[in-house]
Amino acid sequence: MPELRKDLVRNEWVVIATDRALRPNDFPINKQGVHNLAINGFCPFCEGNEANTPPEIAVVRKPDTAPNGPGWMVRTIPNKFSAFELEGELQQNRTGINESCNGLGRHEVVVETPEHHLELQDYTMERIELVLSTLKGRYNDLARDERIKYIHIYKNRGLFGGASLAHSHSQVVGLPMVPETRHGIEDYYHKTGHCLICDMIKQELEDGSRIVAETEDFLLICPYASRFSYETWIIPRHHTPHFGAITSDQITALASISKQFITAMLDCLDNPSYNLMINTAPVNVQFASAGYHWYIEVAPRFIVTAGLEIGTGYYVNPVAPEISAVMLREYLQQHE
Ligand SMILES: [Zn+2]
Ligand SMILES: [Zn+2]
Repeated sequence: MPELRKDLVRNEWVVIATDRALRPNDFPINKQGVHNLAINGFCPFCEGNEANTPPEIAVVRKPDTAPNGPGWMVRTIPNKFSAFELEGELQQNRTGINESCNGLGRHEVVVETPEHHLELQDYTMERIELVLSTLKGRYNDLARDERIKYIHIYKNRGLFGGASLAHSHSQVVGLPMVPETRHGIEDYYHKTGHCLICDMIKQELEDGSRIVAETEDFLLICPYASRFSYETWIIPRHHTPHFGAITSDQITALASISKQFITAMLDCLDNPSYNLMINTAPVNVQFASAGYHWYIEVAPRFIVTAGLEIGTGYYVNPVAPEISAVMLREYLQQHE
């Protein structure tokens, strides 16, 4: 019998089919997502095409190269199709029953490599560290603007991950409000006085059935109420609310485990589309970081979000996280 499990971060239910285990090949959309996206023409993110993007905001460049030209290693630019603009103050309006506010915020793209066909799993350790330090830098830079209340960092890979360009990039969005999908963390803190993620680490270590990998600094688990099949969280073991506080030693450790995990996950699951998201504490909101603990969520995308999820908020996951964890853990161990 399937089971409804409570997702404590989002305060929503997830339907887990605990009695059957779909394998990656049972999902018909799997490979198309990545292959179809790779077939496209002109790429504005390739080295040499800098004139086709807005001017760079931050960049790591080789010595003696000019801004907005070739010679860069990691390049941050504004998102050309941004829905947000960082100008003026937040204005909230009400018209009858309707509520609105201006699209105050910022949307940036971090182009992770000048080379079109390289992806996270292909990068050198140095490049992954460079990308993570850039993301940390963008986080802390945006956090300095008092008007920004939440910073969401994410990466879409493949068509079913929502990527519109194959060239590997991450995105950073500074929002004027804290998304409601984080309020479960605050509720838990107010009820118990504990950090939900720290309590989760403790319980998962005791239980053991959903652990994918363990390092000195990070714990990888398939969470109890996983919304997506083979969803995996990379959690720093030391309680830290903000991603922007990551140390250089942690960046090195995170680069290493991320490369190992993403390589194994793509191989084991037959090269799926995925979303990678960094969940972190709100910024510039007094006392709001209490109870938050940053972590990375990697969600392979085998099923398109459909009527049930959109209508009820209940995600249906046909692979129990206990089964996902065993598969990913064994794959990682065999390919160390
Ligand atoms: Zn490209
Ligand atoms: Zn914590």
